[in-house]
Amino acid sequence: MENKNLSRKEFLSITGKTAAIGAAGTLSLNALTATDLFGQAPSKTASPPASIPPQQDEPIVLEKWKSDVDQQSGPTPTPLPPGSRIRYAVVGLGHLALEEILPALSTCKKSRLTALVSGSPDKMQKVAAQYGIKPENCYSYQTYDQLKNNTEVDVIYIVLPNALHKEYVIRGAKTGKHILCEKPMATSSKECEEMIAACRNSNVKLMIAYRIQYEPHNRKLRELVKDRTFGLAKVIEASNAQSSANPAHWRFKKALAGGGALPDIGLYCLNTNRFILGEEPTEVFAYQYSTPGNPLFKEVEELISWQMRFPSGVIASCSSDYNVHESRRYRVLCEKGWLNMDKAYAYKGQKLTTAKADGMMEKHEEISLAEKNQFAAEIDHFSDCIMHNKTPFTPGEEGLQDHLLMEAIYQSARAGKPVKISGQNKPPQRGPEPKAD
Ligand code: NDP
Repeated sequence: MENKNLSRKEFLSITGKTAAIGAAGTLSLNALTATDLFGQAPSKTASPPASIPPQQDEPIVLEKWKSDVDQQSGPTPTPLPPGSRIRYAVVGLGHLALEEILPALSTCKKSRLTALVSGSPDKMQKVAAQYGIKPENCYSYQTYDQLKNNTEVDVIYIVLPNALHKEYVIRGAKTGKHILCEKPMATSSKECEEMIAACRNSNVKLMIAYRIQYEPHNRKLRELVKDRTFGLAKVIEASNAQSSANPAHWRFKKALAGGGALPDIGLYCLNTNRFILGEEPTEVFAYQYSTPGNPLFKEVEELISWQMRFPSGVIASCSSDYNVHESRRYRVLCEKGWLNMDKAYAYKGQKLTTAKADGMMEKHEEISLAEKNQFAAEIDHFSDCIMHNKTPFTPGEEGLQDHLLMEAIYQSARAGKPVKISGQNKPPQRGPEPKAD
């Protein structure tokens, strides 16, 4: 059967008498047959009843067939027509861009990929063919500034090594495009301040890609802590660790990475703790270690372990290691129970479990939410901010705050004593919470 894209008007004129507008402005199509649409069809073909709201952002509701006994599927997606979506240029075609961001952009509802920036013409040509990007929308690092004249790009998404973020954010802001920048925001708090100022001066929005703050299980855990479902939170244990190879990679060069395990993966423990608690640490105490003679850790730390004290009295113990088997988890110990997140910072597969006493029993529960692509959720949040002129939920100031704290953590590890945090004890100003859709 030929696949036709029909406007609502065309659709109604073909379907004619079978379409009716309901009392609440809802369009219902009953007993619509493929014959009505395309002139020929096998017998018994008939569309079941469905509620089809005329508003673009309201989901089509299909005829129900599952019992309420089972977990319900989410609403049908509500993607905007491609021509109405915010258009992205992705800068740096490495692991994260090719493995996660480009595929995620294809599933976004409010965003789409229209341009690429790379230092490798061969790789870019292949990627452009895969994703249908026009040759004239492919740039090198030298021609990057010409994005200014490209009317098919609204946002520049920086996915380069950490030490290059500042230059490409500042050059990007000068093109007048909005900026989404990968974490860690930069390699120092001073660089973050310059990046924030550049975006402010060019009147463009800046968001840092803290995907965990858009991931449903982590958001659910935060809600349960906030509502005190398990009483007051008292202690957090968090670790993000993985194993590394290839000392030639930029992650093991201080000039490109800014640091080792802390800014790359330990940052997730730091940022997620602040996100869950909604408050800022007042003091940190850290240790760090690198195995002598290991070429991976000549310039950056292998292991960092630190404690943070929060104004509410919560103490968070965090660790991050570049030289152990992968483990990404945290647990929040509360007065009346605990909340545990396994695969907490992974790209998918978060596992949220809780424990609570009930008389003679200790009840354990697993809260399993529908999987959602975290990258698509965060990218669509930024697009929504641009469409409705809102400050992002994770603006540049959120990245700056993490850098100030990481500097205090390193200072403590060097000095071997606690470091008080002064001057940044209030959570940074954020935009509204991301929409749940
Ligand atoms: P990769 O090394 O895989 O890719 C980086 C890309 O940057 C390269 O492929 C290259 O793209 C470009 N590049 C430009 N100059 C250099 C240079 N001097 N050395 C190396 N690469 C260069 O890194 P990742 O994709 O893993 O990380 C990129 C950024 O994303 C980092 O800031 C990292 O912290 C962040 N990240 C975030 C994650 C998240 O979950 N939010 C997860 C992983 C990383 P090209 O060949 O096209 O020029």
